[in-house]
Amino acid sequence: MDYQDAVLQRVTRETDSIYSFALSVPDGMTWKAGQFASWQLRGVPLDEGDTDSRIFTIASSPEEEILLFATRIGDRHSSYKDALLHRIQPGDVIGVSSAMGGFAIPEKADRALLIAGGIGVTPMRAVLKAECLSDRPGRELTLIYSDSREEYAFPDFWKEAAEELPDLQVCYVNNRYDLAAMVRSYAGTNGADASYLISGAPAMNDSMAALLLEQGIPESQLIRDSFMGY
Ligand SMILES: Cc1cc2nc3c(=O)[nH]c(=O)nc-3n(C[C@H](O)[C@H](O)[C@H](O)COP(=O)(O)OP(=O)(O)OC[C@H]3O[C@@H](n4cnc5c(N)ncnc54)[C@H](O)[C@@H]3O)c2cc1C
Repeated sequence: MDYQDAVLQRVTRETDSIYSFALSVPDGMTWKAGQFASWQLRGVPLDEGDTDSRIFTIASSPEEEILLFATRIGDRHSSYKDALLHRIQPGDVIGVSSAMGGFAIPEKADRALLIAGGIGVTPMRAVLKAECLSDRPGRELTLIYSDSREEYAFPDFWKEAAEELPDLQVCYVNNRYDLAAMVRSYAGTNGADASYLISGAPAMNDSMAALLLEQGIPESQLIRDSFMGY
């Protein structure tokens, strides 16, 4: 994979265990909100068997002119994440690949339910930022942000987005039962008239997709971003 140089600008501790990393955009790099990239660390010691790159979603939209990614670094973590936490500092260069993937709210959708599990919220930040900056007529958007640890990243962003987009509703849940109930209720009301974006660990994605299919939502209305590796 080819990498371009991105210079780390700042690291923000978003919650107890979620950190965001803002980097300069390499010359000529473009991406669409919702895409992901591979991020390569250079010159840092890693455990044998660990690799120097990870896939992280670009949590910013291109108009922000900054590359942002965010990740969860728990008490037990890989040597890659240990390097992110302790070795990398502003001014250092991180390699970034071309952007990949097509996670997005379909252009023609008038309404959408965005279901984020934990750190799966990163593409939701990007697509909602793009929505705030777009001049297309407002559409009805609901974000359900589920996190069993109640570690909700980017709190100011969700408030600003809700002010910017009058038809955006942001709901927080901290357990799978409430999450399933809210999704079921939304699907019952909106059915196949809505698009359903799901982003999180593969197990959460699979259970949400199964629930929506059970509710009669056609597969064509489901858009998924599976964070393999969690
Ligand atoms: C399309 C896509 C987009 C993605 N976007 C993101 C994103 O935006 N943000 C993000 O964070 N991830 C994202 N991921 C997942 C990411 O690529 C990594 O797979 C994930 O962050 C796990 O990282 P890690 O392997 O460094 O493990 P860690 O996160 O360090 O650990 C994973 C698990 O293994 C356990 N563990 C790790 N090391 C040890 C150890 N030594 N002993 C015992 N247990 C241990 C941890 O406790 C944890 O439960 C994405 C993946 C894909 C495919």
